[in-house]
Amino acid sequence: MSTAKYKNYTEFDEAKSKCCACEIGKAYNQVVLSDGNKINPKVVFIGEACGAEELIVGKPFVGKAGRLLRATLKEFGFNETNCLITNTIPCRPLNNKFPDDKSLVHSCKEKWLMEELKLLNPDFIVLIGAKSLKFLLNIDGITKERGKFNIIKINNKTVELIAIFHPSYVLRKAYMAEGKEIMEHFRNDIKKVSEIIKK
Ligand code: URA
Repeated sequence: MSTAKYKNYTEFDEAKSKCCACEIGKAYNQVVLSDGNKINPKVVFIGEACGAEELIVGKPFVGKAGRLLRATLKEFGFNETNCLITNTIPCRPLNNKFPDDKSLVHSCKEKWLMEELKLLNPDFIVLIGAKSLKFLLNIDGITKERGKFNIIKINNKTVELIAIFHPSYVLRKAYMAEGKEIMEHFRNDIKKVSEIIKK
């Protein structure tokens, strides 16, 4: 049974779009809402926070890194009918730097992301990058942890999740010696999730 605070996703989205509860929200005065299936997605992809382009377009992952993520998701069969893309925090951080204030991020995550997950009740979750891994599972070390299966409880249901490399990191490393291997991990982890949800 859902333990969500909101009656439905529309009500949730409306409340979230008006949030300016902390200094991040006050500074930017614009929340970026999630994108995709807002009723019953099989998979929820959770990034870190929005950048400048996301603020303009009003969707997560629409900049350079977002284009890599979205193209890879499409290639492996993800689309707006089977997944949703969201972020750990829905605002663009001040100076484009993920907040150091852990209690602020925790309260934001509880207020929005965790309520969203209760409403959506997905079958699988993908954590994109180190911050999502840290704030959802309290685990450090994306390089060691990516691709490993974990679990989280949502509405008293056990939901499987894995962490993947952030596409910004994949792009940053593209021309370095380890770039090819990092890209392969990124692609293979997404492929692995697509195979699981097809079963
Ligand atoms: N854009 C997002 O929406 N989230 C990220 O984590 C990075 C870019």
